[in-house]
Amino acid sequence: VHIAPAFGEDDYNIGQEFGLPFIQPIDEKGYFDDSIPELAGKYFKIHREDIGKKNVWDTDKWVVDQLKKMGKLLDVRDYAHDYPFCWRCKRALLYYARESWFIQMSRFREDLLETNAKVNWVPKMIGTGRFGNFLDKVRDWAISRERFWGTPLPIWICNDRECNHMLAIGSYEELKTLSKGNVVLEDYHKPMIDEVLISCPKCKSDMNRTPEVIDCWYDSGAAPFAQYHYPFENKELVDNGGAYPVDFIAEGMDQTRGWF
Ligand SMILES: [Zn+2]
Ligand SMILES: [Zn+2]
Repeated sequence: VHIAPAFGEDDYNIGQEFGLPFIQPIDEKGYFDDSIPELAGKYFKIHREDIGKKNVWDTDKWVVDQLKKMGKLLDVRDYAHDYPFCWRCKRALLYYARESWFIQMSRFREDLLETNAKVNWVPKMIGTGRFGNFLDKVRDWAISRERFWGTPLPIWICNDRECNHMLAIGSYEELKTLSKGNVVLEDYHKPMIDEVLISCPKCKSDMNRTPEVIDCWYDSGAAPFAQYHYPFENKELVDNGGAYPVDFIAEGMDQTRGWF
């Protein structure tokens, strides 16, 4: 079986389980780096408009030829299957392992299950079934997104790689206090927020915000107390159970997976 831990979730998980090497010879644009000299600078797959044409670059064909030359090829068969292409430039897309920020949900599993058991679900089976199963197998939540629109992840990281100190900022006020020039912004989204620097409390180097934004389901999940501008206002109301947990939520079936 072909396993490529850098290019697919199942492959990655199997790679982790069996300690397989993590080989990623392709850059973020889909081109090979020079770790395989004959492939350096080549796109990882044939372009869609080139399929069926002669004398065009086809990485798959090159790999098959190499295996043939090495005497390691058992059989080659063409078969039709689905494949994702970019809708704009029609190039082949690929699964690509990226670094990401996570919330360690698995740490809260018992708490989540216990609390869920107290919820009066209607119909009842959603609580024990769909939602209960989701909680029972709860996985760590990849909360970062590599896009422009969204709530900026409020984590600043020291530019000195050795130091690598990180700070999670909890309010505009805290950012004002810690930022160089005591910054106050009209709008705290990208790109303005990315210009705000913090002087590292450990080594005095500059700290930049990590570029990612937050998964929008995080905003959704925060809605019950965010609507009260908690914890900056209504702190007592929310802390004493006057506003949260909520009394009643009506939702579509598709929403019953994890955000409230
Ligand atoms: Zn494209
Ligand atoms: Zn530092």
